[in-house]
Amino acid sequence: MIIILTNNNDNLRADGRVFNELRPLKIEAGVLEKADGSAYLEIGGNKILAAVYGPRELHVRRIMRPDMAVIRCRYNMAPFSVGERKRPGPDRRSVEISKITADALRPAIFLEKFPRSTIDVFIEILEAEGGTRCAGITAASVALADAGIPMKDLVASCAAGKANGNVILDLSEDEDKEGEADLPIAIMPRSGEISLLQMDGHMTPDEFDKALDLAIEGCKQISEAQKNAIKDRYGEENG
Ligand code: ADP
Repeated sequence: MIIILTNNNDNLRADGRVFNELRPLKIEAGVLEKADGSAYLEIGGNKILAAVYGPRELHVRRIMRPDMAVIRCRYNMAPFSVGERKRPGPDRRSVEISKITADALRPAIFLEKFPRSTIDVFIEILEAEGGTRCAGITAASVALADAGIPMKDLVASCAAGKANGNVILDLSEDEDKEGEADLPIAIMPRSGEISLLQMDGHMTPDEFDKALDLAIEGCKQISEAQKNAIKDRYGEENG
């Protein structure tokens, strides 16, 4: 299939979105019985499950911290999540994304409340359509809240970038592949603190500023959806 990214007169993107529009987003908290916390997220064609265990005692001395909990993340793409069957198991990309996910979530958690403990986060990409690292962080943050882990804020994540000469929010897989740049970020909306910022490709300083502003606005919208998912879950338990 050949996909042409057109810059048509009304400035709509190939999937009909305007430049600052997120893909359709759905988040549900507490979808798994056995994990301590969980969330299911869809954004565009991405389908993602996040599950959390902990805080629980950590017996691995090498990584245990006497003064705080450690957070361990595993990002995994299912073999059936992409067009061509993906070889199961970790690869360089998933190891990198697991690490940056833990880095993005860590500053939001009151880790010092749980010395000698671990919080384990599992992110399973069931279907991928671009932007899975951000969607995984967003889902994991809801799963952490669902597990009752005390946090300063829900970390919200999305990317902006440049495709077909335009700076745009929340790149689809085609825009990511064909485009000029991708800028995934994660923020804690209350403080405005940025806990993840990566960039792939080329943008001018002006385009970078515009993309960063767009991504921050996108994260704020995502943050509202996260809060609603937690509220819906809370209401369910008490209704
Ligand atoms: P992100 O998912 O965070 O955008 P990348 O920038 O590495 O990460 O983009 C990878 C995208 O490419 C995925 O979201 C997915 O839609 C697509 N893709 C297709 N095949 C694969 C594969 N074998 N491994 C990883 N991504 C793939």
